[in-house]
Amino acid sequence: MRRRDRAGMADRARGALLGLAVGDALGAAVEWLHPDQIHARYGGSLRDLVASPPWERGEWTDDTAMALELATSLAEKGGYDEEDVFSRYAMWARSGPKDIGSTVAAALMRARSVDEARAAAEAYHESSGGKSAGNGSLMRTAPLALRYRNDQGALERISREESTLTHFDPLAGDACAWFNLTLAALVRGRRLPQSTSPAAQAAEEAVGGSEETLAAEAQERMGYVLTALRIGFAAAFGRPDLESAIVFAVNLGGDADTNGAVAGALAGARHGAAAIPARWIEPLLAHERIGGLANRLVRA
Ligand SMILES: [Mg+2]
Repeated sequence: MRRRDRAGMADRARGALLGLAVGDALGAAVEWLHPDQIHARYGGSLRDLVASPPWERGEWTDDTAMALELATSLAEKGGYDEEDVFSRYAMWARSGPKDIGSTVAAALMRARSVDEARAAAEAYHESSGGKSAGNGSLMRTAPLALRYRNDQGALERISREESTLTHFDPLAGDACAWFNLTLAALVRGRRLPQSTSPAAQAAEEAVGGSEETLAAEAQERMGYVLTALRIGFAAAFGRPDLESAIVFAVNLGGDADTNGAVAGALAGARHGAAAIPARWIEPLLAHERIGGLANRLVRA
């Protein structure tokens, strides 16, 4: 690979992780709100990182916290090590994070092993009436796309497997796989993949689909994996630049931090870290560490 290509790829890999964190941190201030409430509070769309208790300005939430656990494990182990990833997630879940999703908590709070986590995820799926296709595995999965960018088969398989640590519903894994295959193609600067999988179809429909439909989904299907995926794709591919992509996703409200994280990862991989506004990067918690982890994952 020529030096210029490699520099471009590293910038897009950093863009994926920093975009994820910045979308998460911007969205944290407006999580669970309706767009009307966002406008009333901020006098229009939220475009700047602001403090909003319990979040400090530039602080990201569980989405980035879990993604960084996964990224650190991949970097230190040289690849996907399920036991190590589970241990890191479980330690984080029990460390008293400011927020944690219900599906993730159900799988991780008491499990002492990977098998127990999967059993707890299945029990949660049953007890919730088959409603465990939450966005909690999608929000953390992006580091796999950096590490396995050159091996689509492994990337797809590991994305699905990793999702089942906390999410029994295969639709959550399908969304992770499609998101990561797309991210990997963007990072490598290749043509986007094609698929007829349910997640791929849902994502494609959202790009160029109506904004009203997405706005309604953001409010009515909060936390659902396809809501985050569809908003992420519509934002990253329907908006001309990274800033407008993240601002669009976050200002739909609802699960705004996760929608922002998914949109930010895709837009960051598309446009590169250099496209992230300095006013977002400078206050972003641990931004140097996040960029460094992305570099390590694409050096492998
Ligand atoms: Mg969150």
